[in-house]
Amino acid sequence: MSISLTVLQTGSLRCRTSMLTQSSTRPILLRRLRILTDTSWSPYIPIHVFLISHPEGYILFDTGMSPKCNDWGYFPFWMPSFRMTAQMMIDSEEGLGELLRGRGFDLGREGGEEEEEGGGSGGEGKKRLKAVIVSHLHHDHAGGLSDVVPDAPVYVTKEHWEAEDGHRLNALIDGAVPSHWPKNWIPNFLDPLGPAIGPFERSYPITKDGKVVAVDTPGHDPGHVSLVVYADEATYFLTGDATYSLESLDKEEADGVNSEPLVAVESVRKIKEFCRGTKCVVLPSHDRETMRRAKEREIYVPTTL
Ligand SMILES: [Zn+2]
Repeated sequence: MSISLTVLQTGSLRCRTSMLTQSSTRPILLRRLRILTDTSWSPYIPIHVFLISHPEGYILFDTGMSPKCNDWGYFPFWMPSFRMTAQMMIDSEEGLGELLRGRGFDLGREGGEEEEEGGGSGGEGKKRLKAVIVSHLHHDHAGGLSDVVPDAPVYVTKEHWEAEDGHRLNALIDGAVPSHWPKNWIPNFLDPLGPAIGPFERSYPITKDGKVVAVDTPGHDPGHVSLVVYADEATYFLTGDATYSLESLDKEEADGVNSEPLVAVESVRKIKEFCRGTKCVVLPSHDRETMRRAKEREIYVPTTL
């Protein structure tokens, strides 16, 4: 099996325009206030997840948004900011479970007895996921966790887990919904055992050959990671929410919702720096051009500000 990438979409959302970007030097409280008083909407933006096929098995980057997110009570009623600041659009067949089953994946368990280990991850029979890497646990990236747990190991950074699980109220304010994580779930932690890669001081190898590797891109959330995939057809940089679009990346903008905009700007500068040294296709989770760029393998050429 060669190394290749498939982009999938789990619905789309629109949000208050100020959530996409705000000045990185505006005080956090004012950034938050700006969002709550903003009456303008962004265009609808996609929510992508990425499926990597590798000789060691299938690897998933992020789990997308849940088709249940528009159900009454999905977001806590005492946290109306979710509905005030974002509108979600997703059909049941756009959920991660349906998308993967449609591609021949065995997500096991719900049938009860079936536990065929013989299928491996690419041979005859059903496909299995080797690992799921989650950039961060906001609801539009962690909404499909219950589709893959417990069948596949899910990885986040320890730093992210401690920030999210240790401060669930903060996590909720930031956009996570811990009540929808699988019951009593504790993720696996990514190990920073890999060497520096370009401007990234350390890396988290996902495969033994180092062709799929996570790197630190904090700012949008503490412990946020992006994924580099050295596929046969191209090198991909999957940003997660380190940037929402190539346009923002190029302008070195921080998103409007995070609590550490200056850290976020440092991360986007590193991504640009990486792209100066390595020709790659940069694919943000929410860029409306991500699907096309992946198809055309369009190389991102960073401009110098
Ligand atoms: Zn997101």
